[in-house]
Amino acid sequence: MEKIRMTTPLVEMDGDEMTRILWKKIKEILILPYVDLKTEYYDLGLKHRDETEDAVTAESALAAKKYGVAVKCATITPNAQRMSEYNLKKMWKSPNGTIRRILDGTVFRAPILCKGILPYVPGWKKPIVLARHAYGDVYSAADGVAAAGEKVYLVTEDAQGKEIRRALVHDFKDGAGVVQGMHNCDGSIRSFAHSCFRFALEENLPMIFATKDTISKVYDGRFKEIFAETYTEYEKAFEEKGLWYLYTLIDDAVARVTRSEGGLLWACKNYDGDVMSDMVATAYGSLGMMSSVLVSPDGKYEYEAAHGTVTRHYYKHLKGEETSTNSVATIFAWTGALKKRGELDGNDALVAFARNLERATVATIEEGEMTGDLIPLFRAEGITPKKLNSEAFLHAVAARL
Ligand code: NAP
Ligand code: MG
Repeated sequence: MEKIRMTTPLVEMDGDEMTRILWKKIKEILILPYVDLKTEYYDLGLKHRDETEDAVTAESALAAKKYGVAVKCATITPNAQRMSEYNLKKMWKSPNGTIRRILDGTVFRAPILCKGILPYVPGWKKPIVLARHAYGDVYSAADGVAAAGEKVYLVTEDAQGKEIRRALVHDFKDGAGVVQGMHNCDGSIRSFAHSCFRFALEENLPMIFATKDTISKVYDGRFKEIFAETYTEYEKAFEEKGLWYLYTLIDDAVARVTRSEGGLLWACKNYDGDVMSDMVATAYGSLGMMSSVLVSPDGKYEYEAAHGTVTRHYYKHLKGEETSTNSVATIFAWTGALKKRGELDGNDALVAFARNLERATVATIEEGEMTGDLIPLFRAEGITPKKLNSEAFLHAVAARL
C-alpha cells in the first residue's frame, strides 16, 4: 500500500529496558509499513540522559510544547541501585516530573477495555478516566516532630518578613507528636480545572470532582470554589453536548464511581489521585492495559503507557529467555499520539489508521491471543486463550491490521 503521509512531526521520546525493546518492534511491525512516519526523535534512555546531563529531557519537553503532540516510552527513574548499574554522574530526576513541570500538565489515565477481560468491579462497562492534580499538598509539605511542652504555629509573614497572622496548630502540653504544613496555589488549581474540563469535553465524558471541604473548609473549600468559577467558562459547552459536571464530597464520589458503569472522568486532588489511580488500575485488570496522557492547560499532549520499563522481563530478555510482555498500553500511546496529530492536521487517513490499529489490538485479545499477564484474567465462552511471546503478539495484531 501507499504509505500514509504526515505533515507535522510527532515528538518521539524513547526510553529504557523492556519497553525500549517493545518500542522498536511496535514501530517496525505495526507503524512503519503503513505510515511515512515523521518524528523528531529524543533518546531519553538513561545512558543518553546521563551523557547529556539530562538536557535531552528538557529539550524533548520543549519540542512537545512546540509541536503539540508527543509519544513517550517508559523510562527509568534513577535510584541508588541504578546509580551503580549505569555508573551515573548524578541521580537524575524523574523524566516524567521534568516533562510535567515544563508542560504544566495534568495526567489522565484510562484503562483499555477488551471483551473477556473482566474488571473486578462487575458493573464497570466503560473506562473510568482518572485525572490527578500533580502539584502540592502532602507531596511538598514541611513536616516535623514536636516535643512535649512545645507549641506549633502556622505563621504568615508579608514580603518584608513582618508577621501578619499566627494560628496555633497544636499545644503539645500532654506529650510529643508530629506536625505538617502543606500548600497549594490558586494558579495550579485553576490550570488543573481547565485541563480537566477541556479533556472531558474533548472525550465526551461527564465529570466528577471531589474534595473533603466539610472538614477542610478553607483549603479544600478553595479547590471547590476555583472549580466552580472555572466551570462557568465550560458550562454552556457541557450542556450543548449533554454532559454533566458534579462537585461532591470525596466519600460520596467513591460510592458513586463504584456504583457507576464507568464512562466518566474523575478529577482528584493529588493524594486522592495517587491512591485511587492504583485502585482503579488494579480493578480493571492489568497494568499493561492502562494508558496515560499528559495534557497541558494550553492543549499540548504527551501520550504514554502508565506502567514502567518492566525490568524483570528485560533481565530475562538479556539472558536470551523468551518474554511475554504486554505492549498494548505502549501501542495505545502511539495510536493516541497519531490520532491527535491527525486531528490537529486534518489528516483523516492518519486518524483512521490509528483507530484501526486500536481495533486490531483489541480484536487480537478478544479472539484469544494475548500476552501472559492477561491469561489468568481472560474468560470467554468457547475460547481457550493462547499465550504469545512479546513479538508474536505484535505479529498477531499486524495480521488483523
Ligand atoms: P513496572 O515496570 O510497571 O513493572 C512492575 C511489574 O508489573 C512487572 O514486573 C510486571 O509483573 C508487571 N507489568 C508492568 N507492565 C507490564 C507489561 N506491560 N506487561 C506485563 N507485565 C507488566 O514497575 P517497576 O518494576 O516498579 O519499575 C521498573 C522501572 O520503571 C523503574 O526503574 C521505574 O523507575 C520505572 N517506571 C517508569 C515509569 C514511566 O516512565 N512512566 C512509570 C513507573 C515506573 P511481573 O514481573 O509479575 O510479570
Ligand atoms: Mg500511587
